[in-house]
Amino acid sequence: MTATLLDGTAVARTIREELAGQIRDLSSRLKRPPGLTVVIVGENPASQVYVRMKHRACQEIGVASEVITLPAETSETELLATVARLNADPCVDGILVQLPLPRQISEPRIIEAIDPSKDVDCFHPVNVGLMAVGQPRFLPCTPAGVVELLRRTGHTTQGKRVTVVGRSNIVGRPLAIMLGHRGPMADATVTVCHTKTPDLAAACRQAEILIAAAGVPRCVTAEMVAPGAVVVDVGVNRVDDPASERGYRLAGDVDFDAVKEVASAITPVPGGVGPMTIAMLLTNACKAATLH
Ligand code: NAP
Repeated sequence: MTATLLDGTAVARTIREELAGQIRDLSSRLKRPPGLTVVIVGENPASQVYVRMKHRACQEIGVASEVITLPAETSETELLATVARLNADPCVDGILVQLPLPRQISEPRIIEAIDPSKDVDCFHPVNVGLMAVGQPRFLPCTPAGVVELLRRTGHTTQGKRVTVVGRSNIVGRPLAIMLGHRGPMADATVTVCHTKTPDLAAACRQAEILIAAAGVPRCVTAEMVAPGAVVVDVGVNRVDDPASERGYRLAGDVDFDAVKEVASAITPVPGGVGPMTIAMLLTNACKAATLH
């Protein structure tokens, strides 16, 4: 069997087209476009790529996007001052501080300083709490992207056994919480795996929907996947590749070539969850603009 491809690029394009109309309406109502400001500290190459992609996506769709680039030696006090200025700016609807931050800056302190009504990443504890109790203001971008990709490709999670590999605050944990809620794109029986899970392969094999978010290239092999399972690969890992001009290439957490012969549907990397994450960020930026 060769799995159907869950094409995140195509689904994200559809979402962006839907959002374009909403953005036009919002812009005429607000007398300005919705505004998203992304703050990047330092020169992490992967962060720079992500920020560029977010900026371009905003520009294409009519969201006013500003990127503030701060040097790697920026102090926590300086970054807090930047966040406070953005909190107070009525033209800034959404604020995103790109993670990871340099060592001298506490990520939780910065996240907590962002006005929760501008927290388009949905990382602020107030927004995480609202999401956890089923009253979301925003949904976290990557977990929401996974759920929306499944929904728009005709895969419900209701009543399904779902295994999530990874329990980070950004992907695995919020995704597990969302899938455990009531509703057609929830109502799953969720197993969450991590580095202390004694038999990862068995936990994966029991899944009708398997979501890999471990950050370990090709850690999900064909033997770990039940025949006919739906496999979502969140992983984006740089692996050395001397044959490539850049010296590396991107690999997911799933051994794509082998797993596609076992699964019924699978996301590619790139072109799966990545574009969906950006589409959900744009969705959150529009939502934020309606809150002000
Ligand atoms: P993270 O913070 O490093 O968390 C990784 C999680 O996976 C942890 O909970 C860890 O367990 C678990 N894990 C690691 N190795 C494992 C193993 N061998 N077996 C079982 N569990 C294991 O990473 P993250 O931020 O969640 O990101 C995960 C991956 O998704 C990365 O490749 C990242 O680049 C990618 N990502 C993609 C997008 C996108 O838009 N496509 C967005 C965000 C992240 P412990 O808790 O026990 O350490």
